[in-house]
Amino acid sequence: MILVTKPYLPDIKAYQQYVEKIWASGWITNNGALVQELEAKLQDTLQVPNCIFLNNGTIALQIAIQALDIQGEIITTPFSYVATTSTILWEKCTPVFADIEPDTLCIDPNEIEALITDRTSAIMATHVFGNPCDVEALEQIAQKHQLKIIYDAAHAFGVTYKGQSILTYGDISTLSFHATKLFHTVEGGAMICKDSAVFHKAEYMRRFGHDGPYAFHGVGVNGKNSEFHAAMGLCVLKDYAFVLNARRKICERYDTQLAGTSLQFLSIRKDTSFNYAYYPIIFKDEATLLKTMAALEAADIFPRRYFYPALNTLDYLDKKVDCPVAERVAQCILCLPLYVGLETSSVDYISQIIKDHL
Ligand SMILES: *Cc1c(COP(=O)(O)O)cnc(C)c1O
Repeated sequence: MILVTKPYLPDIKAYQQYVEKIWASGWITNNGALVQELEAKLQDTLQVPNCIFLNNGTIALQIAIQALDIQGEIITTPFSYVATTSTILWEKCTPVFADIEPDTLCIDPNEIEALITDRTSAIMATHVFGNPCDVEALEQIAQKHQLKIIYDAAHAFGVTYKGQSILTYGDISTLSFHATKLFHTVEGGAMICKDSAVFHKAEYMRRFGHDGPYAFHGVGVNGKNSEFHAAMGLCVLKDYAFVLNARRKICERYDTQLAGTSLQFLSIRKDTSFNYAYYPIIFKDEATLLKTMAALEAADIFPRRYFYPALNTLDYLDKKVDCPVAERVAQCILCLPLYVGLETSSVDYISQIIKDHL
């Protein structure tokens, strides 16, 4: 059986060495030595300031909204994982959907200004599949209308744009380190804050606002992560170059095998160093996708419809708007299996089944 992804497991001995350290210290959570070591190494590897390690990527989005005092309407993308929209609603804000660019699949800056009202306070955009948003255009709009920008960068670990980490754009970028992500800590996430005052505020929010044992610096939540999760992160981070290279090779093999077909591929924005986080293909119509998917499943291969449905069509939304580009893409897109250890012969087999059904 071949699933869309498989969590990367580092050398068990490397993990065991960290476990022994944890036993020796007796400290298992609450900003322990390994959590601090991971934060320092992430800042160094990614070349970013103000990194806060958290227990998942969803809490990172929630804390980002709180730390920036965002209320009212948030302009967001209809093409992302459901957490991008559900977090906005969870924080009692209103998502306002701007359609996406048909080639990069990121929010279309040209769709945003017409949606701005006096209740709009922020833009929350996703670097979908690790492909950078048009950060310059978004920055201009945000400056002109005094909006905050949160990037859901759950897919964008390690991506650089014009030689600089994509995580340095916007007021806050959030990451997910869930087991299925490119870099993971089993469960986990992080936020990168541009401003150090925002960073300190968010850091208090991560630990219930605790300012010492009996004093509180504002309202907080539990966003902490453990020494065991940090240990996994340290092991996976050490292997990151290997992971990236293995994924790149698989993507290049799919590129060769699927070239010249009617499929549409993700257009990576110019000046980007990509992270090979996903391998999406877009079919000419949904019927072809469904037929191909059924054939793959019959062969015990399970790609996933990332991301389906388009978030502007979620049935718990009060108000429905049309985002024709996102809706069409959501109906026709499939992410192919991509993980360290996926054999070249499997990539060829998967590609052949797809070509047979186009
Ligand atoms: C995975 C993901 C999240 C949620 O992260 P968790 O760590 O699972 O909470 C949020 N946004 C996007 C775009 C994601 O892919």
